[in-house]
Formats: sequence, C-alpha cells, structure tokens
Amino acid sequence: MEKILGLNLRTTCSNNCIFCADSSKNKCGLVRYVYTDPDSIKVKIKAAAMVGYRAVYLTGTEPLNHLNIIELIRYARFNKFIHIEVITAGLRLKDVTFLKKIIQAGASEFTLAIYGADRRTHEAVTRTRGSFGDTIKALDNLRGQDVRVGLVSIFTQKNYKNMAVLTAFIIASFPGMYFKIDSVAAFSNSLSEYKYVVPRFEAAAPFLREAAKIYKKKYSTNLPRILFFAKSLLYVPLCIVSRIFDKDLLNLSILIRRYRFRQKYDPRKSFPFESFAKIPSCKSCRFYVICCGISRSYIETYGKIEFKAV
Ligand code: SF4
Repeated sequence: MEKILGLNLRTTCSNNCIFCADSSKNKCGLVRYVYTDPDSIKVKIKAAAMVGYRAVYLTGTEPLNHLNIIELIRYARFNKFIHIEVITAGLRLKDVTFLKKIIQAGASEFTLAIYGADRRTHEAVTRTRGSFGDTIKALDNLRGQDVRVGLVSIFTQKNYKNMAVLTAFIIASFPGMYFKIDSVAAFSNSLSEYKYVVPRFEAAAPFLREAAKIYKKKYSTNLPRILFFAKSLLYVPLCIVSRIFDKDLLNLSILIRRYRFRQKYDPRKSFPFESFAKIPSCKSCRFYVICCGISRSYIETYGKIEFKAV
C-alpha cells in the first residue's frame, strides 16, 4: 500500500470561507501569513523519502502562498517523490506562468475547491470578491495540462441548493476533472455560528441526491471517477448517506469506509473521533461498526431526530 506524506505548510489562504478552521480569519477577517521554515519541511521530506514514501500532499491552508513553494516541490521530486498533490483554493493558478512553474517543479495533481456554479453562490461561501472568476481562470489554465485535477465542493447553508446545478456545470465545463462533494458538518465543531454555516442534512439531502444522480448518469462506467465521488460525505452518518446515494454508490461508500477505518482503528474497541458521537439507537444499526457517528456540535444544534438505525 502506498504511503502518503501529508505536509501542512501553515500558510493562510487567500479566501475567507465561512467554515474556515483558521480562527484568526473567522474572528476578524484578517489574513495572517505564516511561513513554515522551508528547511524544517525539507527535513521531513528527506526523512519520509528514506523510509520509502513516494507520495505527498501539500496543504496550507493555502500551500501556494508559501514563499518557497516551488523550491519545496522541486525538493520533493529530487527526493524521488512521484505523486505530488497540491490541495489549494487555486486562486494563484489564474497566473498560467506560475502554474507552469509549479508543474515543471514536479506537481502531478491539484485539488481545488469550488462552491457554486455562479459567482454569487461561490462567493457567498468564500467571502472573497473575485474568487469565482479567479477559480474559473485557474481551471481553464489547468485544462490541457498533463496533471490530474480534482474538484471538491462543500455544502453549507449558503450553497447546498446549488449542488445539482454545480455538478452539471462541472461535467459540462470541465469534463476531464474529478469531482466530489464534502460535508461541512463534520469539521465545523469550533464554529460559534453553527446554524449560519451548517445546514440540516434533511434540507440538503434532496439537492445532494440530485447531484449524485447526475454524476452517476454521466460516469456510471468510469470506476475511478465513481470511486472518487463515493468518497464524498465520508464523515456523514451512513443512515443519511443511504438517503442520498443509490444502492451502488452507497455500497462503494461503505467499502471505502471499511478500508479507511480498518487502517486506522478497530471501532469495536475504540472510537477515535472525539468530536463525533453515537446515539443509543445506533446500537441496533447495521452500519454501527463502520459509521463515523454524528458530529457532537450537530446533535447539540439540531438534535438527533434525523438519525435512525437502518
Ligand atoms: S443510526 Fe447511528 S450508526 Fe447507524 S448510520 Fe446512523 S449515525 Fe451511524
């Protein structure tokens, strides 16, 4: 199994998303740039290479804002990393010269975020004027480059109704790119304005179901794409996912969870996610062992009524 190194370059993002985990932004909207010492990152790259790592993903929150990003990617390539993924908001990639330098340095995959099929919806999430146009320009620049591109959306209060439209937009506009939709509910435990950011699953489900239907209709025979999509909603309780995905996607999602969870822990003995919980009725659920449970903040805010053993 491929060993993957995750490197957080600790650089602040150019967006200001409503769900951002960077508390400095959520509190005051300020952008603080923090640059991790490049030498300390190189030490990690070298150490990982020596024990056989050949894949790395770079996060930041915005790795492309790191002053030494090209040098660091080049260093990873020099140390025999083959798969170098950049997880980015993508705004800097609107500059095609910069993009080409990143690819020439060794980046082989980009994962970008998109929150809506139109400027208003996307920027209601990013709270950054011009970010939609910059993202689309970046995607246009990436089209035709010899790299894999994945697009990730996150459904929030501001955009969940746009998920099916967004899925159709991406299929039509960027057919070479992978796509999936994640849930903000799983990772928003520290937010003070939870209801402003996180929608109820029940409200979002019809739009997500429609998105899944559109995606599956287009790519039903393309297993890598379907697998990528089935990773969506990984941390959403399976009783909810079963109301969104059809049988095939649900089965794939279950397989992916089994695989992931088995790598990390034995859920019969321990439950690793402190911010997640199971409720009493979960004990009779067929998904009990492979379900991540429900975010505690979600239960505190919206209650348990939506979760029923299946
Ligand atoms: S009922 Fe509980 S264990 Fe079953 S899928 Fe829902 S949250 Fe998970």
